[in-house]
Amino acid sequence: MEIAKIKAFNKNVDSFIDKLLPELEDIYKDLHRNPELPMQEMRTAKIAADYLTTYQYEVTTGIGVTGVVGLLKNGEGPTVMLRADMDALPITEATGLPYASTLVTRDEEGTEVGVSHACGHDLHATWLMGAARLFSEHRDKWHGTLLCVFQPGEEIGRGAQGMIDDGLMDRFPKPDIILGQHVLVGDSGTVRYRSGYHAAFANHCFP
Ligand SMILES: [Zn+2]
Repeated sequence: MEIAKIKAFNKNVDSFIDKLLPELEDIYKDLHRNPELPMQEMRTAKIAADYLTTYQYEVTTGIGVTGVVGLLKNGEGPTVMLRADMDALPITEATGLPYASTLVTRDEEGTEVGVSHACGHDLHATWLMGAARLFSEHRDKWHGTLLCVFQPGEEIGRGAQGMIDDGLMDRFPKPDIILGQHVLVGDSGTVRYRSGYHAAFANHCFP
């Protein structure tokens, strides 16, 4: 779907997004500069939790180690869960970008590794923060319950299970639908979508 068509949907929201973009760009660059390995996303989780708190979400942290859930109740209606992953990869960044990661950290085996957002989860977390603010500040345009989930450890397949084992589906309203997203190579200015498995941690989905 073309972004232009989505934008035409609501001019009000459109101009709000334009206003939001500089803030989101700052958040994105900060997350990109400060990547964290799977299950070590303490800093990223705090940024997400603080952001959700600012926009009146009920925030729960430390779910499955570093997972964050923001809950926004807005009357009767469906429960929608929006999910973003937060973790980075043990890859040294060589993009030369002014906001490139130069961090070196230790993995779970204690080995020193470069770390970078080579899979784009910094974008995912940023997008979810933007969506969280947009929905919070346009509560007159929708009704229902919104859950914003910041998930740890996608790259090693432990984060989602960790959150579920820690009661994600019991401690919060059960979602009618869960929406995730992953940045992919594609035409600029377009959004692609599908249901079912996509950009999934394949060992779990296709045993
Ligand atoms: Zn990824």
